[in-house]
Amino acid sequence: MSFATLWESLLPIGRDGLSGGYRRFSWTPEDAACRAWFTQAAAERDLRVLADNNGNLWAWWDPPGWPGPGAPGGTKAVVTGSHLDSVPDGGAFDGPLGVVSAFAAVDLLRERGCLPVRPLGIAAFSEEEGGRFGVACLGSRLLAGAIDPAAARALADAAGVTLAEAMAAAGHDPDLIGPDDDLLAAVGAYVELHVEQGRALANLDAAIGIGEQIWPHGRWRLDFTGRPDHAGTATLADRRDPMLPFAAAVLAARQAAASHGARATVGKVTAEPGAVNAVSARVSAWLDARAPDERTLETVVGEVLAAAREAAAGHGVELAAGPESVTPAVVFDQGLRERLASSLAEQDIAAPLLPTGAGHDAGVLAARVPTAMLFVRNPTGVSHSPAEHAEPADCAAGVRALATVLEDLACR
Ligand SMILES: [Zn+2]
Repeated sequence: MSFATLWESLLPIGRDGLSGGYRRFSWTPEDAACRAWFTQAAAERDLRVLADNNGNLWAWWDPPGWPGPGAPGGTKAVVTGSHLDSVPDGGAFDGPLGVVSAFAAVDLLRERGCLPVRPLGIAAFSEEEGGRFGVACLGSRLLAGAIDPAAARALADAAGVTLAEAMAAAGHDPDLIGPDDDLLAAVGAYVELHVEQGRALANLDAAIGIGEQIWPHGRWRLDFTGRPDHAGTATLADRRDPMLPFAAAVLAARQAAASHGARATVGKVTAEPGAVNAVSARVSAWLDARAPDERTLETVVGEVLAAAREAAAGHGVELAAGPESVTPAVVFDQGLRERLASSLAEQDIAAPLLPTGAGHDAGVLAARVPTAMLFVRNPTGVSHSPAEHAEPADCAAGVRALATVLEDLACR
């Protein structure tokens, strides 16, 4: 089966030898290698490859006799795909499983003798994880007009390199980024296959699930500014130590999430100047929060920020806090979801409905295009970690499910 060959060929790119995790950040040499892999996989299948102005890659299987993109009266495309970038030391499956499965599904459709009657596209969205520039789903947000292009160009990575500089260095014109209404208008449906980032399918003893909704979620940045001082000579009473209100905020996040059935995580923090024997001048922390509904999310974040402010005031520390990106709840298109369910049921593929706390390009695109998601069982539920896993048999089931859905949507 083509899945294993494709999977093996992608696996070495961007893998860290020590952690075993992936570091595939946008507009880096690893990213270029992923893009070359995508282009080759498309070429091997005679698919037409295009990079859009936002750096997202598209591979098109045009129906026989189709007059070409932008043709008047042209039927709308069916698109599948995901992303190839990773979080720092991420797993192999989050993103790539959807892209590899898409190519394998095309192979399976051809084995079955199916021909598309409308264009069938495979997309790989840029910077989905926000691993380099901090804004999740950056490529799809730009495409859909969900982020200001000038603000996006100014986003900087940890080394101070802006998105504009990184894109230009990789040979992409950053002045062209922004919404592409023509491209989106040509897409009639987007179906993203993704490894499950929880254990719902494992608990239900099902290999495949259908996405029902994505929890509202976002990232908030908290900058605590105090006064740098000597760890040995500055008395406790004299200190303005930003680490203390930071610590209070972390504990408040856990408390707020636990009391509201939500998730809140501080997974990234920087301390300046970062000396072992000095009180910090500044501590910057990022809060990731998700909840079943928007009101609960606001409540959780409100409680964390209130606790942070109170603790900062108590320690003579200044706090600047605000959202970096917030994504509202996404309920996937009901008609498309039901169509997926019935085409899978016809093939006796059990696929329960699942909500998810993870954001996806499908969630961003849902504002503009009917979207749906398929999930593949993850036995431990662990994700954004080298331990992320899906069994080969479940990956194969995912390819079959995706091909079944694509056959229904694009070939009939
Ligand atoms: Zn993902």
